[in-house]
Amino acid sequence: MAKISHFRKQKSFIYLCSHFGTEFLLFLILASAVATNLFLRTNSTRAQTLNRSLFFVYLKNNPERNQPLVDAYESVKQKPEKINLASLSVGQKEVLAATSSNIKSLSGLPGPLPTLAGSALLKPNPSTSGSALPKRDIEVYEVRGGDTVARIAAAYGVSQETILSENNLTTQALIKPGQELKILPMSGVSHKIQKGETLGGIAAKYNVDLETILEYNDIEIPEHILPGEVIIIPNGARVVPPSPQRQTYLASLSKNDFQKIDVPAGYVGGSDLIWPMPAARRLSQKFWSRHRALDIPCRDCAVNASASGIVELAGWQTGYGYTIVINHGQGLKTRYAHASKLLVAAGQSVSQGEQIMISGSTGRSTGPHLHFEIIKNGVLVDPLTLVR
Ligand SMILES: [Zn+2]
Repeated sequence: MAKISHFRKQKSFIYLCSHFGTEFLLFLILASAVATNLFLRTNSTRAQTLNRSLFFVYLKNNPERNQPLVDAYESVKQKPEKINLASLSVGQKEVLAATSSNIKSLSGLPGPLPTLAGSALLKPNPSTSGSALPKRDIEVYEVRGGDTVARIAAAYGVSQETILSENNLTTQALIKPGQELKILPMSGVSHKIQKGETLGGIAAKYNVDLETILEYNDIEIPEHILPGEVIIIPNGARVVPPSPQRQTYLASLSKNDFQKIDVPAGYVGGSDLIWPMPAARRLSQKFWSRHRALDIPCRDCAVNASASGIVELAGWQTGYGYTIVINHGQGLKTRYAHASKLLVAAGQSVSQGEQIMISGSTGRSTGPHLHFEIIKNGVLVDPLTLVR
């Protein structure tokens, strides 16, 4: 009998634990911080600051913990009567004290009770915490009755393919209430970096612009990415369905117009590079870590080969739009992007200064310009260091 009543006393607390799982652990972390603060309150304000900033750091590094913690806090705050205070140990009372200022008459604690520093701990000011709460996380959605992939996709503003591919579903697959779906923050796919992979290789694999991946994932130095990290490939697709733009392009041109050829290893072309677009010299964007190219604004202007070489690629590339890549041999290549019209085909030899395309605004471009890259042994280098 005594056992049962003891059990009952514990029940509400167990209910709390099982209900909030991980969040409860966080309460304990918080509780220890609060307890230390109480102890040190009169002695050292610096200690408080340190404890508080530890918690800030924890939340900053684990922003996904923030919302569940706030939610759990709200739940506890609203249902203090469900908790049998008498059955709680002192430590547990401290947790409650930290989570609710509504609970009156807690004995054995020095008053006035600390609240969650007025939720400030849980709701760091976005203007001061910078990127502490990124909106680019992968979310988990629990399917409810009546949901369809189309409806979920529309609600999150992503494509249906994004949801299907991220959850390894086929178009015929049925989703059931209770099923958990991973939702990317935008259309595309997630990719876990494998050992030996480079971002350039990943970009090529998904046929997306490296620049787009870098920008979207806030990656400054591509080499600093580590195996095991998950990045999001915006507009990337595992089962490459051609984009409408590319579909139209391919349909309106013969197959030979989209080509990539292998240039013989021993080929030697020109190594002396000239400015590729005589009509314009002003830059709208220079070479920097996340834009390793030059942007030179000009509408419908002639774009010329910077040096003699063989056209290695001519056609549409995601992000770049209509693009030409010239291989100059000896590890040197140049890329010209966003063309309104291509004038040479892959496999063709071009001489220095020969017109290869007309500048435009195709692909991921905000206005007519030439996006000009120089690639030396696979590395994008600042064209201004090499072009006269
Ligand atoms: Zn550019």
